[in-house]
Amino acid sequence: MVSRVIPVDPFDLVIFGGTGDLARRKILPGLFRRFCGGQMPPEARIIGAARSDMDDAGFRQMVAESIHEFGDKRHPHEDQLPAFLERVSYETVDATGDGGWTALKARLRPGTVRAFYFSVGPSLFGDLAERLRGFGLADDDSRVVVEKPFGHDLKSARALNATLARHFSEQQIYRIDHYLGKETVQNLMAVRFGNMLFEPLWNAQYVDHIQITVAETVGVGGRGGYYDKSGAMRDMVQNHLMQLLCLIAMEPPARFEPDSVRDEKLKVIRALDPVDWHHIVRGQYAPDGDTPGYRHDVEDPRSRTESFVALKCHVSNWRWAGTPFYLRTGKKLRARTSEIAVVFKDAPHSIFGADAGRHRNVLSIRLQPNEGITLGVTIKEPGPGGMRLVDVPLDMTFADALGPDVEDVPDAYERLIMDVIRGNQTLFMRGDEVEAAWAWTDPIIEGWIARNEVPKPYDVGSSGPDDSLMLMHKDGRKWREIRS
Ligand code: NAP
Repeated sequence: MVSRVIPVDPFDLVIFGGTGDLARRKILPGLFRRFCGGQMPPEARIIGAARSDMDDAGFRQMVAESIHEFGDKRHPHEDQLPAFLERVSYETVDATGDGGWTALKARLRPGTVRAFYFSVGPSLFGDLAERLRGFGLADDDSRVVVEKPFGHDLKSARALNATLARHFSEQQIYRIDHYLGKETVQNLMAVRFGNMLFEPLWNAQYVDHIQITVAETVGVGGRGGYYDKSGAMRDMVQNHLMQLLCLIAMEPPARFEPDSVRDEKLKVIRALDPVDWHHIVRGQYAPDGDTPGYRHDVEDPRSRTESFVALKCHVSNWRWAGTPFYLRTGKKLRARTSEIAVVFKDAPHSIFGADAGRHRNVLSIRLQPNEGITLGVTIKEPGPGGMRLVDVPLDMTFADALGPDVEDVPDAYERLIMDVIRGNQTLFMRGDEVEAAWAWTDPIIEGWIARNEVPKPYDVGSSGPDDSLMLMHKDGRKWREIRS
């Protein structure tokens, strides 16, 4: 049922930072899956580039180990690994120096799609862009892929955009937000714009509120140094949660094309009201017995960085006037789950009386785990005992609907890299979108600093600080349970 696999054009993909964590965990195993899935043509080449002194054989060894460690355990495709590795090579290059660039250029073939993945820290983007142009590796058809974090605030995001724009046009820049590559996120658009059923109800008249939750069970892990300078607002809300909010709230684009979709997303961000600070809760996971808390994990006993945010916001336009959007994300919570819930209003009048109970329709879009979409519908409770109502899910869990083929569905990184090769920017963030998102989040963060605000402690394994529950409770609403 899945996969009419359409191979992409032959390409040369250079991964700057090819020896790094992201390349080893996501990019290289993802490329191998696409190779096994038949999407990568025989002429495709992948070239790792970093400062480490390594030859092709050494890099291939590293790639093979990464695939063993982080690749698809259920379908290891060991037999295909040698053929994949033949397409892989390595060049020692320092982004900040001139060594290695001529040799790297010699590895690139004319007439082939060229993509350069900047899997390095953003401070190197300018050096890479300048040398790619200066040494003649990139031309006007080449693509560059950049990773989050795209800036630390509006000022730095503008500076990064300006740096890239000196060397590449907007059509060449692919800013990754891997949430947009998830199957369910695209399915959300299919559900909204491919069916007559939902769109007429998709507005303030019928929708009571919308909840977006991205909950993690992990803490900051080895990223404490980075995370403590960032926090949940910058690390999750400014990008992933806002992108999800945009896809839920946007007007139907004229076409499923990059600028059509991104224009509509941008309008949503610009329609967001500034958030009242009474409508934001920041949290930080507390120590619990022998389990260390956030401050221990980031090695700063006085850190005021948040590992949790919950907020209520409004999209001020005709469609959504008066409908609150509740966003919540955090670390070390009860379960790992990402869900968007569209909670519809009560039916205007219950013909069954108070005893029957009343239920609201909820459309739940789950990004993880068990990607899928469920619509809660009210029916009569089966059996005798009169008319009592009960909620049942109309379940569109992909694993059930698609059977074993669901395992062939590309993961977010795989899909997005193939989109880069195809030259399709629909699922990538445009520069103005990123800036608009920072323009909305900056005042929130500045407010915290100005008020010297200390995040509320919350228990590891909980749903976040009690105040975040109150945020909903005060409005007569309730968060959906965080469960896997
Ligand atoms: P990392 O493990 O520290 O890897 C950095 C890579 O950059 C290494 O391959 C390093 O190799 C190379 N590098 C460093 N300085 C260089 C230079 N001057 N010239 C050429 N190469 C250089 O970092 P990462 O976790 O892979 O993250 C890479 C980027 O992706 C970062 O911007 C990060 O924020 C972003 N990101 C990462 C993740 C993730 O899960 N890891 C998720 C989302 C976004 P050498 O030391 O050999 O040069």
